[in-house]
Amino acid sequence: MKISVIGAGLGGLSASAILASRGHTVDLFEQNENPGGKMQELRSTGFRFDTGPSLLTMPFLLEQVFERCGKSSADYLEWTQVEPVCRYQFPDGSVFHNYHDPRRNREELMRIAPEDVEAWDQFLDYSSDLYRRTAETFLFNPLQGIRDMQLSDIPDFLRIDAFTTVSKRVDDYFSSPRLRQLFKRFPTYNGSSPYQAPATLNVIPFVELRLGGYYIKGGMYNLARALVKLAEDCGVRIHIGVPVDMIVPDPGRKRAISGLMINGTLYEADAVVANSDATATYMSLMPRNALSQLNKRRISRIEPSCSGFVVLLGLNRIYPQLKHHNIFFSDNYEEEFRTIFDLREPPQDPTVYITNTSLTDPGDAPPDCSNFFMLVNAPYTAAGQLWHEWTETYTDHIIHTMEARGLEGLRDAILFRKVITPPDFERLYGSNKGSIYGTSSNNRNAAFIRPRNKSPWFDNLYLCGGSTHPGGGIPLVMQSAMNVDALVNRQAE
Ligand SMILES: Cc1cc2nc3c(=O)[nH]c(=O)nc-3n(C[C@H](O)[C@H](O)[C@H](O)COP(=O)(O)OP(=O)(O)OC[C@H]3O[C@@H](n4cnc5c(N)ncnc54)[C@H](O)[C@@H]3O)c2cc1C
Repeated sequence: MKISVIGAGLGGLSASAILASRGHTVDLFEQNENPGGKMQELRSTGFRFDTGPSLLTMPFLLEQVFERCGKSSADYLEWTQVEPVCRYQFPDGSVFHNYHDPRRNREELMRIAPEDVEAWDQFLDYSSDLYRRTAETFLFNPLQGIRDMQLSDIPDFLRIDAFTTVSKRVDDYFSSPRLRQLFKRFPTYNGSSPYQAPATLNVIPFVELRLGGYYIKGGMYNLARALVKLAEDCGVRIHIGVPVDMIVPDPGRKRAISGLMINGTLYEADAVVANSDATATYMSLMPRNALSQLNKRRISRIEPSCSGFVVLLGLNRIYPQLKHHNIFFSDNYEEEFRTIFDLREPPQDPTVYITNTSLTDPGDAPPDCSNFFMLVNAPYTAAGQLWHEWTETYTDHIIHTMEARGLEGLRDAILFRKVITPPDFERLYGSNKGSIYGTSSNNRNAAFIRPRNKSPWFDNLYLCGGSTHPGGGIPLVMQSAMNVDALVNRQAE
Protein backbone atom coordinates (compact mmCIF):
# COMPACT_ATOMS: atom_id res chain seq x y z
CA MET A 1 0.00 0.00 0.00
CA LYS A 2 0.99 3.63 -0.44
CA ILE A 3 0.71 5.25 3.00
CA SER A 4 1.08 8.95 3.86
CA VAL A 5 1.85 10.00 7.44
CA ILE A 6 1.21 13.51 8.82
CA GLY A 7 3.70 14.56 11.50
CA ALA A 8 7.11 13.35 12.64
CA GLY A 9 6.33 13.21 16.36
CA LEU A 10 7.35 10.04 18.19
CA GLY A 11 4.09 8.37 17.12
CA GLY A 12 4.41 9.31 13.45
CA LEU A 13 8.05 8.24 13.25
CA SER A 14 7.32 4.90 14.96
CA ALA A 15 4.23 4.14 12.85
CA SER A 16 6.07 5.05 9.63
CA ALA A 17 9.00 2.78 10.45
CA ILE A 18 6.81 -0.19 11.33
CA LEU A 19 4.56 0.21 8.28
CA ALA A 20 7.55 0.59 5.94
CA SER A 21 9.16 -2.52 7.46
CA ARG A 22 5.94 -4.39 6.51
CA GLY A 23 6.63 -3.53 2.86
CA HIS A 24 4.36 -0.50 2.46
CA THR A 25 5.58 2.61 0.63
CA VAL A 26 5.57 5.30 3.31
CA ASP A 27 5.92 9.08 2.95
CA LEU A 28 6.10 11.12 6.14
CA PHE A 29 5.36 14.88 6.05
CA GLU A 30 6.48 17.13 8.90
CA GLN A 31 5.68 20.84 8.93
CA ASN A 32 8.58 21.86 11.21
CA GLU A 33 12.26 21.94 10.34
CA ASN A 34 13.15 19.32 12.96
CA PRO A 35 11.55 15.90 13.49
CA GLY A 36 10.53 14.74 16.97
CA GLY A 37 7.38 16.83 17.58
CA LYS A 38 7.25 17.84 21.25
CA MET A 39 10.56 16.06 21.82
CA GLN A 40 13.09 18.71 20.80
CA GLU A 41 16.58 19.80 21.72
CA LEU A 42 18.09 23.25 22.08
CA ARG A 43 21.81 24.03 22.11
CA SER A 44 23.12 27.49 22.94
CA THR A 45 26.20 29.11 24.50
CA GLY A 46 27.67 25.77 25.61
CA PHE A 47 24.41 24.43 27.08
CA ARG A 48 22.19 21.60 25.80
CA PHE A 49 18.54 21.30 26.79
CA ASP A 50 15.75 18.82 26.09
CA THR A 51 12.73 21.07 25.64
CA GLY A 52 10.09 18.32 25.94
CA PRO A 53 10.05 14.97 27.75
CA SER A 54 12.66 14.26 30.40
CA LEU A 55 11.60 10.88 31.80
CA LEU A 56 11.27 7.57 29.96
CA THR A 57 9.08 4.85 31.44
CA MET A 58 8.14 1.39 30.13
CA PRO A 59 11.12 1.18 27.74
CA PHE A 60 9.97 -2.32 26.75
CA LEU A 61 7.37 -0.63 24.49
CA LEU A 62 10.18 1.25 22.78
CA GLU A 63 12.02 -2.05 22.31
CA GLN A 64 8.88 -3.55 20.76
CA VAL A 65 8.72 -0.80 18.13
CA PHE A 66 12.25 -1.67 17.03
CA GLU A 67 11.51 -5.41 17.17
CA ARG A 68 8.46 -4.97 14.91
CA CYS A 69 10.83 -3.41 12.38
CA GLY A 70 13.18 -6.41 12.70
CA LYS A 71 15.81 -4.29 14.51
CA SER A 72 17.30 -4.09 17.97
CA SER A 73 16.92 -0.86 19.95
CA ALA A 74 20.43 -1.45 21.36
CA ASP A 75 21.86 -0.67 17.91
CA TYR A 76 20.18 2.75 17.99
CA LEU A 77 20.19 4.15 21.54
CA GLU A 78 20.88 3.46 25.21
CA TRP A 79 19.01 4.38 28.37
CA THR A 80 19.96 4.36 32.01
CA GLN A 81 18.22 4.48 35.38
CA VAL A 82 18.94 7.59 37.44
CA GLU A 83 19.38 7.24 41.19
CA PRO A 84 17.71 8.63 43.18
CA VAL A 85 14.62 8.60 40.98
CA CYS A 86 13.69 12.07 42.18
CA ARG A 87 14.40 14.63 44.88
CA TYR A 88 11.18 15.97 46.38
CA GLN A 89 11.14 19.18 48.41
CA PHE A 90 8.03 19.89 50.43
CA PRO A 91 6.56 23.29 51.41
CA ASP A 92 8.14 23.08 54.89
CA GLY A 93 11.58 22.74 53.27
CA SER A 94 11.98 19.03 54.13
CA VAL A 95 13.45 16.80 51.44
CA PHE A 96 12.82 13.20 50.38
CA HIS A 97 15.15 11.33 48.04
CA ASN A 98 13.23 8.57 46.35
CA TYR A 99 15.70 5.74 45.74
CA HIS A 100 15.21 2.59 43.68
CA ASP A 101 17.37 0.87 46.27
CA PRO A 102 14.79 -0.42 48.83
CA ARG A 103 17.13 -0.07 51.80
CA ARG A 104 17.93 3.59 51.09
CA ASN A 105 14.28 4.24 50.24
CA ARG A 106 13.20 2.88 53.62
CA GLU A 107 15.76 5.01 55.43
CA GLU A 108 14.40 8.08 53.69
CA LEU A 109 10.82 7.11 54.55
CA MET A 110 11.76 6.54 58.21
CA ARG A 111 13.16 10.05 58.23
CA ILE A 112 10.27 11.97 56.64
CA ALA A 113 7.15 9.81 57.09
CA PRO A 114 7.78 7.06 59.68
CA GLU A 115 4.02 6.60 60.12
CA ASP A 116 3.66 5.53 56.47
CA VAL A 117 6.58 3.17 55.88
CA GLU A 118 4.27 0.17 55.54
CA ALA A 119 1.68 2.18 53.57
CA TRP A 120 4.31 2.87 50.88
CA ASP A 121 4.60 -0.84 50.02
CA GLN A 122 0.87 -1.43 50.41
CA PHE A 123 0.09 1.41 48.02
CA LEU A 124 2.56 0.12 45.44
CA ASP A 125 1.02 -3.36 45.73
CA TYR A 126 -2.40 -1.80 45.06
CA SER A 127 -0.87 0.15 42.16
CA SER A 128 0.68 -3.05 40.77
CA ASP A 129 -2.70 -4.75 41.03
CA LEU A 130 -4.26 -1.90 39.00
CA TYR A 131 -1.57 -2.39 36.36
CA ARG A 132 -2.35 -6.12 36.16
CA ARG A 133 -6.05 -5.38 35.75
CA THR A 134 -5.76 -2.53 33.24
CA ALA A 135 -2.63 -3.03 31.11
CA GLU A 136 -3.86 -5.74 28.72
CA THR A 137 -7.32 -4.22 28.27
CA PHE A 138 -6.62 -0.50 28.25
CA LEU A 139 -2.98 -0.10 27.25
CA PHE A 140 -1.70 -2.95 25.08
CA ASN A 141 -4.88 -3.21 23.05
CA PRO A 142 -6.32 -1.07 20.23
CA LEU A 143 -9.74 -1.12 22.00
CA GLN A 144 -11.23 -0.48 18.58
CA GLY A 145 -14.29 -2.65 18.94
CA ILE A 146 -16.02 -5.34 20.89
CA ARG A 147 -13.62 -8.01 19.58
CA ASP A 148 -10.82 -6.29 21.51
CA MET A 149 -12.54 -6.96 24.84
CA GLN A 150 -12.29 -10.46 26.28
CA LEU A 151 -15.08 -11.86 28.44
CA SER A 152 -12.41 -12.80 30.96
CA ASP A 153 -11.49 -9.10 31.26
CA ILE A 154 -14.86 -8.16 32.73
CA PRO A 155 -14.20 -9.08 36.40
CA ASP A 156 -10.94 -7.12 36.30
CA PHE A 157 -12.61 -4.26 34.50
CA LEU A 158 -15.08 -3.88 37.37
CA ARG A 159 -12.23 -3.54 39.85
CA ILE A 160 -10.11 -0.75 38.42
CA ASP A 161 -11.04 1.76 41.11
CA ALA A 162 -12.76 4.14 38.68
CA PHE A 163 -15.44 5.34 41.11
CA THR A 164 -13.29 7.49 43.34
CA THR A 165 -10.53 10.01 42.63
CA VAL A 166 -6.76 9.60 42.80
CA SER A 167 -6.69 12.09 45.66
CA LYS A 168 -9.29 10.33 47.80
CA ARG A 169 -7.66 6.91 47.40
CA VAL A 170 -4.20 8.31 48.19
CA ASP A 171 -5.65 9.88 51.35
CA ASP A 172 -7.07 6.46 52.32
CA TYR A 173 -3.60 4.93 52.25
CA PHE A 174 -1.39 7.68 53.68
CA SER A 175 -1.62 9.93 56.71
CA SER A 176 1.61 11.82 56.03
CA PRO A 177 0.84 15.09 54.18
CA ARG A 178 4.18 14.70 52.41
CA LEU A 179 3.43 11.29 50.93
CA ARG A 180 -0.11 12.38 50.09
CA GLN A 181 1.30 15.23 48.01
CA LEU A 182 3.97 13.01 46.47
CA PHE A 183 1.50 10.39 45.24
CA LYS A 184 -0.96 13.01 43.99
CA ARG A 185 1.73 14.22 41.62
CA PHE A 186 1.51 11.20 39.29
CA PRO A 187 -1.72 12.05 37.35
CA THR A 188 0.11 15.13 36.05
CA TYR A 189 2.20 12.69 33.98
CA ASN A 190 -0.69 12.61 31.55
CA GLY A 191 -1.83 16.15 32.23
CA SER A 192 -4.69 15.41 34.63
CA SER A 193 -5.72 16.63 38.06
CA PRO A 194 -5.50 14.22 41.03
CA TYR A 195 -8.67 15.82 42.39
CA GLN A 196 -10.69 14.89 39.28
CA ALA A 197 -8.96 11.88 37.69
CA PRO A 198 -10.29 8.41 38.58
CA ALA A 199 -8.18 6.42 41.04
CA THR A 200 -7.34 4.07 38.15
CA LEU A 201 -4.53 6.52 37.43
CA ASN A 202 -2.90 5.34 40.64
CA VAL A 203 -1.38 2.77 38.28
CA ILE A 204 1.30 5.34 37.33
CA PRO A 205 3.37 5.06 40.55
CA PHE A 206 3.82 1.34 39.86
CA VAL A 207 5.07 2.16 36.37
CA GLU A 208 7.66 4.66 37.57
CA LEU A 209 8.62 3.30 40.99
CA ARG A 210 8.54 -0.45 40.35
CA LEU A 211 9.10 -0.75 36.58
CA GLY A 212 11.56 2.15 36.70
CA GLY A 213 12.22 5.65 35.39
CA TYR A 214 14.94 6.06 32.75
CA TYR A 215 16.99 8.71 30.98
CA ILE A 216 18.23 8.37 27.41
CA LYS A 217 21.99 8.62 27.29
CA GLY A 218 23.23 11.74 25.51
CA GLY A 219 19.85 13.41 25.99
CA MET A 220 16.22 12.51 25.48
CA TYR A 221 16.35 13.89 21.94
CA ASN A 222 18.49 10.90 21.01
CA LEU A 223 15.22 8.95 20.96
CA ALA A 224 13.88 11.19 18.17
CA ARG A 225 17.20 10.79 16.33
CA ALA A 226 17.03 7.00 16.77
CA LEU A 227 13.48 6.86 15.41
CA VAL A 228 14.43 8.99 12.39
CA LYS A 229 17.29 6.57 11.65
CA LEU A 230 15.02 3.57 12.20
CA ALA A 231 12.43 5.04 9.80
CA GLU A 232 15.09 5.77 7.18
CA ASP A 233 16.61 2.29 7.58
CA CYS A 234 13.14 0.85 6.96
CA GLY A 235 12.75 2.90 3.78
CA VAL A 236 10.47 5.76 4.92
CA ARG A 237 10.78 8.92 2.81
CA ILE A 238 10.79 11.78 5.33
CA HIS A 239 9.77 15.21 4.00
CA ILE A 240 10.79 17.89 6.49
CA GLY A 241 9.38 21.43 6.47
CA VAL A 242 6.32 20.31 4.48
CA PRO A 243 2.97 21.18 6.09
CA VAL A 244 -0.04 19.13 5.09
CA ASP A 245 -2.91 21.49 4.23
CA MET A 246 -5.78 19.02 4.10
CA ILE A 247 -6.82 15.38 4.31
CA VAL A 248 -8.93 14.89 1.19
CA PRO A 249 -11.99 12.59 1.32
CA ASP A 250 -12.59 10.59 -1.85
CA PRO A 251 -15.62 12.09 -3.66
CA GLY A 252 -16.24 8.77 -5.45
CA ARG A 253 -15.99 6.40 -2.47
CA LYS A 254 -17.93 6.62 0.77
CA ARG A 255 -15.85 6.49 3.99
CA ALA A 256 -12.57 6.79 2.06
CA ILE A 257 -9.69 9.26 1.99
CA SER A 258 -8.03 9.80 -1.37
CA GLY A 259 -4.85 11.48 -0.10
CA LEU A 260 -3.27 14.67 1.21
CA MET A 261 -3.37 18.18 -0.18
CA ILE A 262 0.09 19.70 0.08
CA ASN A 263 0.87 23.09 -1.41
CA GLY A 264 -1.96 22.81 -3.90
CA THR A 265 -1.12 19.27 -5.07
CA LEU A 266 -3.03 16.10 -4.19
CA TYR A 267 -0.73 13.30 -2.99
CA GLU A 268 -2.79 10.18 -3.47
CA ALA A 269 -2.55 7.48 -0.81
CA ASP A 270 -4.22 4.16 -0.05
CA ALA A 271 -4.17 5.05 3.66
CA VAL A 272 -3.35 8.10 5.79
CA VAL A 273 -1.90 8.05 9.31
CA ALA A 274 -2.36 11.31 11.23
CA ASN A 275 0.13 11.94 14.03
CA SER A 276 -1.14 15.52 14.16
CA ASP A 277 -3.28 16.21 17.25
CA ALA A 278 -6.54 14.27 16.83
CA THR A 279 -8.81 17.24 17.54
CA ALA A 280 -6.87 19.39 15.05
CA THR A 281 -6.93 16.54 12.53
CA TYR A 282 -10.71 16.23 12.57
CA MET A 283 -11.57 19.92 13.10
CA SER A 284 -8.95 21.75 11.00
CA LEU A 285 -7.34 19.29 8.57
CA MET A 286 -10.54 18.02 6.99
CA PRO A 287 -13.05 19.85 4.77
CA ARG A 288 -15.88 21.49 6.73
CA ASN A 289 -18.52 18.99 5.66
CA ALA A 290 -16.39 15.87 6.12
CA LEU A 291 -17.89 15.14 9.56
CA SER A 292 -21.45 15.56 10.80
CA GLN A 293 -22.23 18.37 13.27
CA LEU A 294 -22.87 15.72 15.93
CA ASN A 295 -19.45 14.15 15.48
CA LYS A 296 -17.77 17.55 15.48
CA ARG A 297 -19.53 18.38 18.74
CA ARG A 298 -18.30 15.08 20.22
CA ILE A 299 -14.72 15.88 19.27
CA SER A 300 -14.82 19.44 20.50
CA ARG A 301 -16.01 18.17 23.93
CA ILE A 302 -12.82 16.16 24.50
CA GLU A 303 -10.88 17.91 27.26
CA PRO A 304 -7.21 18.56 26.44
CA SER A 305 -4.53 17.74 28.98
CA CYS A 306 -2.96 20.64 30.84
CA SER A 307 -0.25 22.62 29.13
CA GLY A 308 3.14 23.61 30.49
CA PHE A 309 5.21 26.70 31.14
CA VAL A 310 8.86 25.86 30.50
CA VAL A 311 11.84 27.94 31.58
CA LEU A 312 15.26 26.85 30.30
CA LEU A 313 18.16 28.32 32.25
CA GLY A 314 21.89 28.08 31.56
CA LEU A 315 23.54 28.86 34.90
CA ASN A 316 27.11 29.77 35.83
CA ARG A 317 26.98 27.63 38.97
CA ILE A 318 26.00 24.27 40.42
CA TYR A 319 23.45 23.71 43.19
CA PRO A 320 24.95 20.73 45.05
CA GLN A 321 21.66 19.85 46.77
CA LEU A 322 19.94 19.06 43.45
CA LYS A 323 19.66 15.70 41.67
CA HIS A 324 18.81 14.80 38.07
CA HIS A 325 15.01 15.07 38.66
CA ASN A 326 13.73 17.50 41.29
CA ILE A 327 10.26 18.53 42.38
CA PHE A 328 9.53 21.52 44.57
CA PHE A 329 5.97 21.28 45.83
CA SER A 330 3.53 24.16 46.30
CA ASP A 331 1.94 24.95 49.63
CA ASN A 332 -1.67 24.28 48.62
CA TYR A 333 -1.86 21.49 46.08
CA GLU A 334 -5.63 21.43 45.73
CA GLU A 335 -5.73 25.18 45.08
CA GLU A 336 -2.96 24.82 42.50
CA PHE A 337 -5.01 22.31 40.49
CA ARG A 338 -8.20 24.33 40.87
CA THR A 339 -6.36 27.33 39.42
CA ILE A 340 -5.03 25.30 36.47
CA PHE A 341 -8.11 23.25 35.57
CA ASP A 342 -11.08 25.31 36.80
CA LEU A 343 -9.91 28.94 36.64
CA ARG A 344 -7.51 28.16 33.75
CA GLU A 345 -4.94 30.58 35.12
CA PRO A 346 -1.24 30.10 35.87
CA PRO A 347 -0.83 29.16 39.55
CA GLN A 348 0.84 31.82 41.68
CA ASP A 349 2.18 29.16 44.06
CA PRO A 350 3.32 26.57 41.52
CA THR A 351 4.89 23.16 41.95
CA VAL A 352 8.13 23.37 39.98
CA TYR A 353 9.89 20.45 38.34
CA ILE A 354 13.57 20.84 37.47
CA THR A 355 15.69 18.48 35.39
CA ASN A 356 19.37 19.04 35.64
CA THR A 357 20.74 16.67 32.99
CA SER A 358 24.31 18.00 33.26
CA LEU A 359 24.60 15.90 36.43
CA THR A 360 24.21 12.76 34.29
CA ASP A 361 25.68 14.10 31.01
CA PRO A 362 28.38 16.62 32.03
CA GLY A 363 28.70 17.74 28.40
CA ASP A 364 25.26 19.37 28.66
CA ALA A 365 26.78 22.43 30.41
CA PRO A 366 30.22 24.06 30.59
CA PRO A 367 32.38 23.11 33.64
CA ASP A 368 30.92 24.26 36.99
CA CYS A 369 27.67 25.25 35.26
CA SER A 370 24.13 23.75 35.19
CA ASN A 371 21.38 23.41 32.57
CA PHE A 372 17.94 23.72 34.16
CA PHE A 373 14.76 22.61 32.42
CA MET A 374 12.01 23.99 34.66
CA LEU A 375 8.41 22.90 34.06
CA VAL A 376 5.32 24.31 35.75
CA ASN A 377 1.92 22.78 35.00
CA ALA A 378 -0.13 25.43 33.24
CA PRO A 379 -3.72 25.64 31.97
CA TYR A 380 -4.47 24.83 28.37
CA THR A 381 -5.13 27.98 26.36
CA ALA A 382 -8.49 29.67 26.88
CA ALA A 383 -10.18 32.99 26.14
CA GLY A 384 -9.11 35.75 28.50
CA GLN A 385 -5.56 34.50 29.02
CA LEU A 386 -2.98 37.20 28.36
CA TRP A 387 0.20 35.18 27.94
CA HIS A 388 1.89 37.92 25.89
CA GLU A 389 1.56 40.17 28.95
CA TRP A 390 2.09 37.50 31.61
CA THR A 391 5.16 35.65 30.31
CA GLU A 392 7.87 38.00 31.51
CA THR A 393 6.42 38.59 34.98
CA TYR A 394 5.50 34.91 35.43
CA THR A 395 9.05 33.83 34.52
CA ASP A 396 10.46 36.31 37.07
CA HIS A 397 7.94 35.04 39.61
CA ILE A 398 9.07 31.42 39.13
CA ILE A 399 12.73 32.37 39.47
CA HIS A 400 11.93 34.35 42.61
CA THR A 401 9.88 31.43 43.97
CA MET A 402 12.81 29.05 43.44
CA GLU A 403 15.17 31.44 45.24
CA ALA A 404 12.75 31.44 48.16
CA ARG A 405 12.74 27.61 48.06
CA GLY A 406 16.51 27.48 48.54
CA LEU A 407 18.13 28.10 45.13
CA GLU A 408 19.91 31.22 46.34
CA GLY A 409 21.35 33.57 43.75
CA LEU A 410 19.45 31.91 40.89
CA ARG A 411 18.63 35.15 39.09
CA ASP A 412 22.24 36.36 39.15
CA ALA A 413 23.55 32.99 37.89
CA ILE A 414 21.64 33.10 34.59
CA LEU A 415 23.79 33.06 31.45
CA PHE A 416 21.06 31.82 29.08
CA ARG A 417 17.27 31.92 29.33
CA LYS A 418 14.43 30.78 27.09
CA VAL A 419 10.74 30.41 27.87
CA ILE A 420 8.10 28.22 26.17
CA THR A 421 4.46 29.10 26.92
CA PRO A 422 1.14 27.27 26.32
CA PRO A 423 0.43 29.31 23.14
CA ASP A 424 3.91 28.31 21.93
CA PHE A 425 3.05 24.60 22.32
CA GLU A 426 -0.16 25.18 20.36
CA ARG A 427 1.61 27.08 17.57
CA LEU A 428 4.72 24.91 17.32
CA TYR A 429 3.13 21.46 17.25
CA GLY A 430 -0.54 22.14 16.46
CA SER A 431 -1.53 20.62 19.80
CA ASN A 432 -5.12 21.19 20.92
CA LYS A 433 -5.12 24.35 23.10
CA GLY A 434 -1.41 23.89 23.81
CA SER A 435 -1.93 20.58 25.62
CA ILE A 436 1.39 18.83 26.18
CA TYR A 437 0.18 15.27 26.78
CA GLY A 438 -2.90 15.07 24.51
CA THR A 439 -6.21 14.54 26.27
CA SER A 440 -6.82 14.69 30.00
CA SER A 441 -8.14 11.80 32.09
CA ASN A 442 -10.20 14.03 34.34
CA ASN A 443 -13.23 11.78 34.26
CA ARG A 444 -13.83 8.06 34.36
CA ASN A 445 -15.01 7.91 30.73
CA ALA A 446 -11.84 9.49 29.34
CA ALA A 447 -10.36 6.17 28.21
CA PHE A 448 -13.48 5.48 26.16
CA ILE A 449 -13.95 8.88 24.51
CA ARG A 450 -10.27 9.41 23.61
CA PRO A 451 -9.97 9.26 19.78
CA ARG A 452 -9.30 5.73 18.48
CA ASN A 453 -6.32 4.71 16.36
CA LYS A 454 -8.61 4.05 13.40
CA SER A 455 -11.18 6.64 12.45
CA PRO A 456 -14.78 5.50 12.99
CA TRP A 457 -15.77 7.61 9.96
CA PHE A 458 -13.13 6.75 7.31
CA ASP A 459 -11.93 3.21 6.59
CA ASN A 460 -8.40 4.22 5.55
CA LEU A 461 -7.67 6.97 8.11
CA TYR A 462 -5.57 6.04 11.16
CA LEU A 463 -4.43 8.18 14.10
CA CYS A 464 -1.52 7.87 16.49
CA GLY A 465 0.12 10.03 19.15
CA GLY A 466 -0.60 11.38 22.60
CA SER A 467 -4.06 12.72 21.77
CA THR A 468 -5.24 9.24 20.73
CA HIS A 469 -5.75 5.91 22.47
CA PRO A 470 -4.12 4.84 24.78
CA GLY A 471 -2.91 8.33 25.80
CA GLY A 472 0.00 10.72 26.25
CA GLY A 473 3.63 10.23 27.16
CA ILE A 474 6.41 8.41 25.31
CA PRO A 475 5.48 4.76 25.99
CA LEU A 476 1.77 5.13 25.22
CA VAL A 477 2.56 7.03 22.04
CA MET A 478 4.76 4.07 21.01
CA GLN A 479 1.83 1.78 21.76
CA SER A 480 -0.49 3.93 19.62
CA ALA A 481 1.87 3.43 16.65
CA MET A 482 1.82 -0.35 17.22
CA ASN A 483 -1.99 -0.19 17.37
CA VAL A 484 -2.04 1.52 13.97
CA ASP A 485 0.10 -1.33 12.62
CA ALA A 486 -2.34 -3.90 14.07
CA LEU A 487 -5.37 -2.07 12.65
CA VAL A 488 -3.86 -1.64 9.17
CA ASN A 489 -3.18 -5.40 9.17
CA ARG A 490 -6.71 -6.06 10.41
CA GLN A 491 -8.21 -3.95 7.60
CA ALA A 492 -6.19 -5.97 5.06
CA GLU A 493 -7.50 -9.31 6.45
C1 LIG B 1 7.30 20.02 28.22
C2 LIG B 1 6.91 18.59 28.04
C3 LIG B 1 7.30 17.64 28.96
C4 LIG B 1 6.94 16.30 28.78
N1 LIG B 1 7.43 15.38 29.66
C5 LIG B 1 7.26 14.06 29.38
C6 LIG B 1 8.00 13.09 30.10
O1 LIG B 1 8.82 13.39 30.96
N2 LIG B 1 7.77 11.77 29.79
C7 LIG B 1 6.91 11.40 28.81
O2 LIG B 1 6.75 10.19 28.57
N3 LIG B 1 6.22 12.32 28.08
C8 LIG B 1 6.39 13.63 28.33
N4 LIG B 1 5.79 14.57 27.55
C9 LIG B 1 4.79 14.13 26.55
C10 LIG B 1 5.45 13.63 25.27
O3 LIG B 1 6.42 14.53 24.84
C11 LIG B 1 4.39 13.47 24.20
O4 LIG B 1 3.34 12.62 24.66
C12 LIG B 1 4.93 12.90 22.90
O5 LIG B 1 6.19 13.43 22.54
C13 LIG B 1 3.90 13.21 21.82
O6 LIG B 1 4.21 12.53 20.63
P1 LIG B 1 3.17 12.51 19.45
O7 LIG B 1 3.45 11.28 18.65
O8 LIG B 1 1.79 12.70 19.96
O9 LIG B 1 3.55 13.71 18.49
P2 LIG B 1 3.72 15.28 18.72
O10 LIG B 1 4.91 15.51 19.54
O11 LIG B 1 2.45 15.90 19.12
O12 LIG B 1 4.10 15.70 17.23
C14 LIG B 1 3.14 15.86 16.21
C15 LIG B 1 3.89 16.35 15.00
O13 LIG B 1 2.94 16.56 13.94
C16 LIG B 1 3.34 17.73 13.24
N5 LIG B 1 2.18 18.25 12.52
C17 LIG B 1 1.00 18.68 13.06
N6 LIG B 1 0.18 19.10 12.07
C18 LIG B 1 0.85 18.94 10.90
C19 LIG B 1 0.54 19.20 9.54
N7 LIG B 1 -0.64 19.75 9.19
N8 LIG B 1 1.46 18.91 8.59
C20 LIG B 1 2.66 18.37 8.92
N9 LIG B 1 3.02 18.13 10.21
C21 LIG B 1 2.12 18.39 11.18
C22 LIG B 1 3.83 18.66 14.34
O14 LIG B 1 4.63 19.69 13.82
C23 LIG B 1 4.59 17.69 15.23
O15 LIG B 1 5.94 17.57 14.83
C24 LIG B 1 6.13 15.92 27.69
C25 LIG B 1 5.73 16.88 26.76
C26 LIG B 1 6.14 18.19 26.92
C27 LIG B 1 5.77 19.21 25.86
